Amino acid sequence: MNYIVLDLEWNQCPFGKTREDRRLPFEIIEIGAVKLNEKKEIVDTFHELIKPVVYRQIHFRTREIINLSMKDLDRGRPFPEAVTDFLAWCGGNACFCTWGTLDLTELQRNLTYYNMDGLIATPLFYADVQKLFAIAFEERRTRRALQWAVEYLKIAEDGDFHEALMDAVYTARVLKFIPQEVISRNYSVDYYRTPKGREDELKIRYDTYEKYITRGFPTKEAVMEDKEVRALRCFECGRSARQRVKWFSDYGKNYFSVGWCEEHGFVKGKIRLRRNEDGKIFAVKTTRLMTPEEAEEIVEKHRALKERRSRRRHAGS
Ligand SMILES: [Zn+2]
Repeated sequence: MNYIVLDLEWNQCPFGKTREDRRLPFEIIEIGAVKLNEKKEIVDTFHELIKPVVYRQIHFRTREIINLSMKDLDRGRPFPEAVTDFLAWCGGNACFCTWGTLDLTELQRNLTYYNMDGLIATPLFYADVQKLFAIAFEERRTRRALQWAVEYLKIAEDGDFHEALMDAVYTARVLKFIPQEVISRNYSVDYYRTPKGREDELKIRYDTYEKYITRGFPTKEAVMEDKEVRALRCFECGRSARQRVKWFSDYGKNYFSVGWCEEHGFVKGKIRLRRNEDGKIFAVKTTRLMTPEEAEEIVEKHRALKERRSRRRHAGS
């Protein structure tokens, strides 16, 4: 298996969101990547500039972070050509690694724009090096800039950040510091293409939690009525947990539930609802064990919400 560390730069509509092409909010203008061997040494590099066709001016924000002019980009190659070469260069058995969660989604969205779907197999598992860095060296949930991690690990800085190939090189250097078991146990899954049917749905077990990714449903209500979505099972033993607090939403897109396993204690269920590329709603449910204090916090949140709602009802009548 090859590790392919990938970094993309993209441009967006220079005239603002209202005038963007909604099928392609971010147009890829540069691909940088390095190929690593099993010891995570760089064995090959890939770099292409892409000639933009959708947005013919560079957005001011893009201009602030990258050092490329439209004149440079006009010397680049059309996206379909460059990406075909890139995927051939990756080889069949690639494990993608990126800094953060965006690159593979935008790569697939650009492929879809050019009717080039299907070139990347799904479900797409990848190593999010930004997340892995946090797990290995910091609090699990922090998300640092690449330059921050490079400085933290005292990695040699011999090139500019926000240059696609150099960022891929830096990401690869950070990856080399991360223990293999941390990488193997914490693969991410990209949500651009969500499961098509029930049989494609994903259940991924991590060290301390399980993630369940559903197929798309027509409405939010339809997702939340689904039996498997509503089920709450103990992370440890898989037995059905008695729901002390049934699924409730905190006004946003998140739902919570508190369960109890006789043997393993409190079980936390969290559901995030998201919209997929086809406009359908899918759920990402995470299940984990939690302390009595954490459980108490959720119970309290639920109580406060209920109170506020009932007060509003009375005020309205
Ligand atoms: Zn249990």
